[in-house]
Amino acid sequence: MMTDTAPLTVTAPLAVTAAGHAPMGSPFAHIDTWIFDLDNTLYPAACNLFAQVDVRIGAYIAEALGLDADAAKRLQKDYFRQYGTSLRGLMLNHGVQPGPFLDYVHDIDVSAILPQPAMAESLAALPGRKIIYTNGSKGHAENVMRRLGVADQFHAVFDIVAADFTPKPDALPYTTLIQRHGIDPTRAVMVEDIARNLEPARALGMATVLVETDSPFSLPNPDAPPEALSPGALPYVQHRITDVPAWLAQVVADLAASK
Ligand SMILES: [Mg+2]
Repeated sequence: MMTDTAPLTVTAPLAVTAAGHAPMGSPFAHIDTWIFDLDNTLYPAACNLFAQVDVRIGAYIAEALGLDADAAKRLQKDYFRQYGTSLRGLMLNHGVQPGPFLDYVHDIDVSAILPQPAMAESLAALPGRKIIYTNGSKGHAENVMRRLGVADQFHAVFDIVAADFTPKPDALPYTTLIQRHGIDPTRAVMVEDIARNLEPARALGMATVLVETDSPFSLPNPDAPPEALSPGALPYVQHRITDVPAWLAQVVADLAASK
């Protein structure tokens, strides 16, 4: 039975309610590993940090390859589309070293992110491990976590280096992630703002939560018509939310109530 106290942030019906659960039972009661994307998930897309990274990637390419700004920008976008990250294209086609690139492009001002003490409390109250899974660098993740005030709440960061530079949504690094950290995917949930990044997670048996944003990057295909994004159109998206701190507080409350 759904009640009128269901969280407003959940815009789709809860996907699974196991028989015998109390009405207030949480769909996350079986979860022991909480996997969070970083950018535009742990902090709102409105912080627009990617705009800074985007500019720095273009500048790095222009300098490293001796291109003018327009040509560098075109190459950046071409490689992003073709390889999932600009870095992967630069490594494969130009022998660019990933370490200096990642340090440079993530050397950004994160002051647009506001500290989130309530979210830190919710994370601390969640049973099990919390892991960051990002196509960015560990250094960037640590920078963002420090600013949010949640650095102590995460057990590990699985970054693009750990993924051997194969970005989400390629299925390979998801397997690496679960092997390296001994994760049972049927007891894990992945929280992500880019819908297509949830498809390999769901295929492995993870629960999935889409953080909806206004960014076209959230969509499985930026050219897709609105109906392609309806709840039934993305079978690998089980839950949809808009406010991560509010959702976490609700999950913690539901888990406590179902004990
Ligand atoms: Mg993201």
